[in-house]
Amino acid sequence: MSADIIDGKAFAAQLRGRVAGFVPAFRAAARRAPGLAVILVGEDPASQVYVRSKHKATIEAGMESFEYRRDPSISEQKLVDLVNQLNADDAVDGILVQLPLPDHINEQRIIATIDPDKDVDGFHVVNAGRLAVGLHGYVPCTPLGCLMLLRDKLGDLSGLDAVVVGRSNIVGKPMAQLLLAESCTVTIAHSRTKDLAAVVRRADIVVAAVGRPEMIRGDWIKPGATVIDVGINRVPGAEAGKTKLVGDVAYAEAAEVAGAITPVPGGVGPMTIAVLLRNTLVAAHRRAGVLLAKDAI
Ligand code: NDP
Repeated sequence: MSADIIDGKAFAAQLRGRVAGFVPAFRAAARRAPGLAVILVGEDPASQVYVRSKHKATIEAGMESFEYRRDPSISEQKLVDLVNQLNADDAVDGILVQLPLPDHINEQRIIATIDPDKDVDGFHVVNAGRLAVGLHGYVPCTPLGCLMLLRDKLGDLSGLDAVVVGRSNIVGKPMAQLLLAESCTVTIAHSRTKDLAAVVRRADIVVAAVGRPEMIRGDWIKPGATVIDVGINRVPGAEAGKTKLVGDVAYAEAAEVAGAITPVPGGVGPMTIAVLLRNTLVAAHRRAGVLLAKDAI
């Protein structure tokens, strides 16, 4: 069998287009653009790339992008003050603090300072709680993007066996909550799971969010299963001195067995920013009291 390739890049481009399509009506109703503020502390090269891409995508969607770059020596209190300033700023609908932060800053304190109704990354404990009990809130962008791809591919997920490998607060746990809300039977696997291969082999849906290159092998996959690979791992490439990106799933092997699979790159990765824009659009409508039809986006 050769799996269908789930084209996250194309889906993300479509989602970004749909988000952009709602912006003119919002601007007309609210007399301002939806606004996203991004805080970047320090000069981590990967974070710089992410922040640049977010800025570009925000502008392309017709939204306002506010960037706050701060020196890595900034005190925790100064960062708290900046977040509070953005909480109070009416032009800002979404606040994103690019992680990781320098060691001397308590990430949890900074995330807890963000107004939950501007927390478009969905990391605030209030939004984690809303997700857990099924209330409206903001869901972390990467797992929500995975769910959108799954729904698009499979339609109704109810009753399917889903295995999420990884239990981080930003991917694994919210992913499991989302699948549970879709009435999947959900197993969360992690580094202490016994016989991971056997656990994964039961799954109709596998979501891999581990951070270990090609750890999940083709013979772990149930024939016909849908495989969502969140992993982004940089490994040595074929050419000396060059690197390439691979996922947490051994793609070539798994694609022989799975029914559908996301590639790396071009699968889950592009969904994250598209969902960030979607969450910002939703936040803008809620904050401005402008109606956005349920499930419109
Ligand atoms: P974390 O490091 O926070 O979590 C990794 C999880 O994998 C942990 O729960 C850990 O278990 C589990 N794990 C580690 N080793 C094993 C093992 N041998 N067997 C089973 N489980 C294991 O990572 P993240 O959730 O932040 O990210 C996961 C991957 O997704 C990374 O490659 C990251 O780069 C990528 N990513 C991609 C995004 C995107 O596409 N936009 C966004 C976010 C992440 P334990 O808890 O027991 O330690």
